[in-house]
Amino acid sequence: MELNKKPSKRWSLEDVREYLTKHNIRASFYRLKIFEYLINERTHPTAEEIFETLKKEIPAMSRGTVYNTLKLFLEKKIVQLVNVEKNEARYDATLSWHGHFKCLRCGKVFDVHIENLKLSGLDGFEIYEKHLDLKGLCPSCLKSKKI
Ligand SMILES: [Zn+2]
Ligand SMILES: [Zn+2]
Repeated sequence: MELNKKPSKRWSLEDVREYLTKHNIRASFYRLKIFEYLINERTHPTAEEIFETLKKEIPAMSRGTVYNTLKLFLEKKIVQLVNVEKNEARYDATLSWHGHFKCLRCGKVFDVHIENLKLSGLDGFEIYEKHLDLKGLCPSCLKSKKI
């Protein structure tokens, strides 16, 4: 397993428009901006964080719009909830199988690539959900701890 580096390719609004349309979601301006934020920042933000950030750029955007849009994205299965912290809903637009590492100091949630994870004892079981959640300290918090 290896912690994710920031992906270099950023989605343009046009990429997002195509993606939403492909998933039968009407690509309104607010929806475009919210999904663009999720897919490009990949910080696993809460609805509140999305609202606070986008409000600066789009003052007319309401908190309700953010919550309703996220609900729609969940229904259409283009975002998923991150499981690593049960008491806060964090959103993820990366849908491929990956794990999460939550830093206990700065609270950031990082993506974890999974390769060759071996499980046993599952003969005869059917799996509907899988999550890999790790907690600890991120490299920059570890560094500042040593000062
Ligand atoms: Zn940290
Ligand atoms: Zn993730």
